[in-house]
Amino acid sequence: MNDESKTDASFSAPPSSLRVSFLVCGCGRWMHTQGIEERPGSGGDHWLVRSECCGCRWRVGLEVGAADAHPFIDRLMWTDEARHLLDRMPPYVQALMKPVVDEYVRDRGQRVVTTALFGEARRGGAVRWDADAEARLSRVPASVRTMAKAELEKTSLERGQASVTVALMEELKARYFGMAGQKT
Ligand SMILES: [Zn+2]
Repeated sequence: MNDESKTDASFSAPPSSLRVSFLVCGCGRWMHTQGIEERPGSGGDHWLVRSECCGCRWRVGLEVGAADAHPFIDRLMWTDEARHLLDRMPPYVQALMKPVVDEYVRDRGQRVVTTALFGEARRGGAVRWDADAEARLSRVPASVRTMAKAELEKTSLERGQASVTVALMEELKARYFGMAGQKT
C-alpha cells in the first residue's frame, strides 16, 4: 500500500525493474491481477502471479517469492488452490465463509488468501500438528521439509482433519516423495 504513493504515474514504457508497484503493459495501461498459483518450495513459498491487460489482453506470468509479491497484486485475491478448497464446499458454507476469510486476511495486512491462511481462518489459528507428527517433520531433510509441510497441511485441510497426523505423513510420503517401503 505505501508503495503506491511512490508510483510515478507518468511513465509509459514497461517497467525495466521489478521494484515498481503493479505492472504496466506495453500499451501503457495497468495490468490487472488475474490469478495466483501457489508454488511451495524449499526456499520459502513462491507464487505464480498471472496478470492481464484489460486493453490489449496481453498476459504475463511472474513467479515471485510470496514476501515480494504484493506489488504485483492489485486487490485481494484467492490463490487457485485456496479457491479450489472453497469451491468444494456446499454453496451455503461458501457464502458464509468467504467474507470471514477475506476479513481475516485483510486484518493481517495480507492481500492473498492462500490455502494456509484459509485454513487458519477456518479454525481460528494455524494448522495443528500432532506432537509425534511434528517431531517426525523435524527429521525430514531440510530440502523437502517446506514442501512436505505445505502439502501435508493442505491435504489435512482438504479432508477436514483436526490435525496433521503421522498416518497422513506415511500416506503422503508414498504418494509424493517416493520414500515408501516400510508399509506393514
Ligand atoms: Zn495492453
